[in-house]
Amino acid sequence: MNVKQNLEQINEHITKSLEKVHRDTRPNVIAVTKYVTIERAKEAYDAGIRHFGENRLEGFQAKREALPDDVVMHFIGTLQSRKVKEVIDDIDYLHALDRKSLAKEINKRASHVVKCFVQVNVSEEESKHGLALEEVDAFIELLEQYENIQVVGLMTMAPYTEDEAEIRQIFETLRHKRDEIQAKQLDYAPCTELSMGMSNDYEIAAEEGATFVRIGTKLVGKEE
Ligand SMILES: *Cc1c(COP(=O)(O)O)cnc(C)c1O
Repeated sequence: MNVKQNLEQINEHITKSLEKVHRDTRPNVIAVTKYVTIERAKEAYDAGIRHFGENRLEGFQAKREALPDDVVMHFIGTLQSRKVKEVIDDIDYLHALDRKSLAKEINKRASHVVKCFVQVNVSEEESKHGLALEEVDAFIELLEQYENIQVVGLMTMAPYTEDEAEIRQIFETLRHKRDEIQAKQLDYAPCTELSMGMSNDYEIAAEEGATFVRIGTKLVGKEE
């Protein structure tokens, strides 16, 4: 299927999910183009998508250069501190802030305020990046000193499982943590956003209040 058809289907599913839970915040759909060519990314642009996500530096830069200027670029992977200076000014949203050393480097190198999601490893899987839930408050507090960092929200990845209840629990937990931080009304950490949901679980994420879903395989496909 082409990207436009995939997008229509995803949008329909999101609409159904939101109706089911009587929620009206519709998540922004980020097209994750890490598995596909520049041509396919352009097809997504032509289908109306403006949010693009990449998890590696090379892919990020290639797509950034190839796509028109009105795209919003999301860096969704782990960013090595020594690579920050090469790419930070091209990033609109960073989804994986998870350590002080990275925050410090971003603050030093960025010439604009970078919108960051703090990545949380809610499921506590060893293979996953991100802070443990109980570390989040203290981590966000220490970000106050960095004027080029704005904490726009929290991000997580659910485990790869068929167990819907488990996934839902993780997304719900992240939403509660987001609400807690948002309630603190910190200038540097408005924390209004929730980046959660991928090809296999974006509907559950929408039901649980995601404001950004990151979709690769089901939207633009997976080449190779
Ligand atoms: C690859 C990736 C996605 C998209 O994964 P799909 O399952 O292909 O939709 C979303 N988020 C992150 C952080 C990723 O690395």
